[in-house]
Amino acid sequence: MRILNRQLTIHEFSRYLSQKHFGKLAPDSIVLHHSCKYKLQEWNGHDSLLAIKTDLESKGHCAGPHIVVSYDGIWLFTDMYNIGTHGEEGDATYKHLDGRIYRGHEVPSNLHDYGNFKLQNYSIGIIVIGDYDLETWNGETKRNALYCVDMLIKRLQIPYQRVYFHREFTSKTCPGKMITKDWLFKEIANLEYAKKEIMKNEIILETNEIKEEYKIQIDPISVERAKNIGILSKVDSLEKELIAIASMRTIDYMERRIDSLENKIKSLRNSLS
Ligand SMILES: [Zn+2]
Repeated sequence: MRILNRQLTIHEFSRYLSQKHFGKLAPDSIVLHHSCKYKLQEWNGHDSLLAIKTDLESKGHCAGPHIVVSYDGIWLFTDMYNIGTHGEEGDATYKHLDGRIYRGHEVPSNLHDYGNFKLQNYSIGIIVIGDYDLETWNGETKRNALYCVDMLIKRLQIPYQRVYFHREFTSKTCPGKMITKDWLFKEIANLEYAKKEIMKNEIILETNEIKEEYKIQIDPISVERAKNIGILSKVDSLEKELIAIASMRTIDYMERRIDSLENKIKSLRNSLS
């Protein structure tokens, strides 16, 4: 079994996703799991990841989940370009020329006409390390898991209805009795709110810095010029505009607007020099 075996921070995972090529048929759903028998207290980075790999290989699997989340990062396991083995019927869907549907990792090759099944879709399997029958995710594990799910939803444009729990395909309680859809989506919404607050504060800090720079750090002639071409009021109105955006638009939209703010600020600076 080939695994990527890479440990990423939330920020690195975001960059990885933005550059990731998913092929002609990108995954269109997520299946969430918990590791249950691999305890969070016993998690030991690379060694634990390799233990999961060995375990799956001993069961004859040629792939595993795509992502393993723990308190120390978001770990890449099976390449998301490929179909994983993690959620039984949730792994992938194939359709035969005659309309028959097969759900699972791969159409069994002992079916005489298995070659006539075409792949329709497949899911990203995420395992959150720990046992969540008695408690929800918490601490850094929770943070990594929420960001991971949220970023995948955005990157692959996965609707909430296509975020599945393993228990929808099996009699297990996976990803843990305490993990419910209501809880998960509420937490993701909170995350969105928190991200906006952070960005809003960054905008306020940045515009304040610019204002101070113009007011104090440059010589009186430049201050006079700055007033003349209305730079201070331009910065003020940019700030107001961005705070308004922060309270009503999505993060993606804000990120684009921050890029354009940076360009505007650059041109304001150039007009002074
Ligand atoms: Zn599971």
